[in-house]
Amino acid sequence: MSTTDRRRLVVVGASLAGLRAVEAARKAGFDGEIVLIGAEQHLPYDRPPLSKAFLEPADAGTPVPDHPVLRSEEMLISQLGVHLMLGTRATGLDTDRRVVVTAADDVAYDLLIIATGAGARELPGTQGISGVHSLRTLDDAIAVRAALDDGARTVVVGAGFIGSEVASTASKRGLAVTVVEAQPTPLVRAIGPVMGEAIASLHQRNGTALRCGVGVGRIESVGTAESRRVDSVVLEDGSTLPADLVVVGIGTAPAVGWLRDSPLTLENGIVCDETLWTGVEGIYAAGDVANWYNPLVARRQRLEHWTSAAEQGAAAARNAVDPNSARPYSTVPYFWSDWYDSRIQFVGITDADEVAVVDGDTDVAGRWVALYRTGDALAGALTVNGQADIMKYRAQIAKGTSWSDALRFAEKRRVLAAR
Ligand SMILES: Cc1cc2nc3c(=O)[nH]c(=O)nc-3n(C[C@H](O)[C@H](O)[C@H](O)COP(=O)(O)OP(=O)(O)OC[C@H]3O[C@@H](n4cnc5c(N)ncnc54)[C@H](O)[C@@H]3O)c2cc1C
Repeated sequence: MSTTDRRRLVVVGASLAGLRAVEAARKAGFDGEIVLIGAEQHLPYDRPPLSKAFLEPADAGTPVPDHPVLRSEEMLISQLGVHLMLGTRATGLDTDRRVVVTAADDVAYDLLIIATGAGARELPGTQGISGVHSLRTLDDAIAVRAALDDGARTVVVGAGFIGSEVASTASKRGLAVTVVEAQPTPLVRAIGPVMGEAIASLHQRNGTALRCGVGVGRIESVGTAESRRVDSVVLEDGSTLPADLVVVGIGTAPAVGWLRDSPLTLENGIVCDETLWTGVEGIYAAGDVANWYNPLVARRQRLEHWTSAAEQGAAAARNAVDPNSARPYSTVPYFWSDWYDSRIQFVGITDADEVAVVDGDTDVAGRWVALYRTGDALAGALTVNGQADIMKYRAQIAKGTSWSDALRFAEKRRVLAAR
């Protein structure tokens, strides 16, 4: 590759946002050097399948993706001209010398995109106990899948999306599974209390035990001091759940530890403006680690959603390469999750004055649609098995549709769906 741009772009975090940054930089005509630094040994891979298809039993009729790789090594090196530094953790950032510090070497940058994502929070006191896992990485998923293959009695701690997906797969495999949630209602932050309760009912409807409003007291393990294995989960109310596998889904923390001594502003991730610029020359952030100002919803957000991570990676790279033409990254947040045979999708924001079910019945399995109102505007939409509807509501939110117009629109969609 002949190089006319003498700048070097360094991307830290070799996952979705980092990969999209690399691709977008090349697409924007950047022909300088690109270095991609990733702590994991693996090539960039896709995380959503890890709690879904990847955990299905191998004999379920669908092939198990062994490694949901996003791009081959050949493509990264030969076609995108990337210098790959996998298995390399960035440990510091020196903006005076303009270098990323790693255990291997200091890596000089002219432009830097930080896409280090988030790490799973651990349940205190469980380190070193085998059978207790988070689910954030491919290695986590391999361990969880092996335990499910062995028929593990499964306890999921935290009724969030990822934990609930694991519970749904374990249940589909016919395994005994209990979900424990410390809050009285699951998913309050993600979709609000009313819908949190409605969605959580999918567990009971599919035969998965759900224990809400009770925390984990302790994990009991058996074995020697050197090698301990989980035996049961004791809840704060004293009840005991026998367990061979405990999957901990109690949230994540942005991966910013390595930036503590840098001049970047760290507050629930890396604080950046609407163009994903950190305020330090040449440095942008993208994906789960970025706390940016989203003009569309007029607030700061740190999303942990596949779509925004991919789009932010690309936007950050375009803005870094050509800062004079930098454009804001603005979006109606979107995520999906698959539980049992239902696809859950959400667009917008959840702090609503009112939530109205406009189609279907949350007490009955099948398809339903709920809309979220803030003031006089449509602010969010949640669908269960409403794949044909969700992006239509996303467009309505983007154009600032009023609540009354949204209800009229919903009625038309309801009639159409009933035909
Ligand atoms: C199991 C699972 C299921 C999911 N399902 C869905 C879904 O159904 N729908 C949805 O919308 N979203 C889903 N998500 C969320 C989605 O996958 C994330 O939003 C997305 O992966 C974020 O991409 P990212 O590149 O910002 O960060 P990450 O994917 O977290 O990648 C960050 C990378 O940076 C590396 N890194 C961290 N620190 C350093 C360092 N100091 N030096 C070098 N490298 C470092 C990490 O090892 C990691 O590889 C799911 C996530 C998980 C874990």
